[in-house]
Amino acid sequence: MIIIYFLMHCMLAGCGNTGFAENELKLIGKSGDGSMRLCLVGNYADSLILRGKAKELTEHQINSEKLKTLAERMLATVTAPENDGVGIAAPQVGLPYRLVIVQRFDKQGEPFELFINPRITSYIGDLSEGREGCLSIPGYWGLVKRAVTVCISYTTPEGEQRDEKIEGFTAIIFQHEIDHLDGILYTDRTEKVYPDETEDIP
Ligand code: ZN
Repeated sequence: MIIIYFLMHCMLAGCGNTGFAENELKLIGKSGDGSMRLCLVGNYADSLILRGKAKELTEHQINSEKLKTLAERMLATVTAPENDGVGIAAPQVGLPYRLVIVQRFDKQGEPFELFINPRITSYIGDLSEGREGCLSIPGYWGLVKRAVTVCISYTTPEGEQRDEKIEGFTAIIFQHEIDHLDGILYTDRTEKVYPDETEDIP
């Protein structure tokens, strides 16, 4: 009876089997919960997460249902009409893990895809300056110089290890999102930020 109760408790509470901490499981919530609260750089507690170094996801976490729920809710967050982003990193929703969603403008249909433990393995070619904003710094933008082409390595949601060469705007998004995993914000890479009302640089 005690064993059955214990098993039931494990099934209901997760029993730490997912590899996520209790407060992290609370944040992840459940499938269908919709978009998540975004961490903002102007909030002290949020900034500690945004400025921290994210942890690699373990195989155990990668294979857990909770990771699927987190991915689903991060996607709901980045695509929510009020956010309308092109990429999001897990620290932006309060989870200090190396997990990003990037919109693949280099693919047919421009799908959003999930990248687990992504790393930039090389930067190729010239730098290009472009306008960037961030869901964690609403209302502002800045000019940032980034490599036009990068090579990345990552784990797919199916658990496969992949290497890929990414070009153009999608490569810029990857650099912005992977920066988030190392606590770097685009404002660190630009001299000045402008309010959204500023269309052209004065
Ligand atoms: Zn950002």
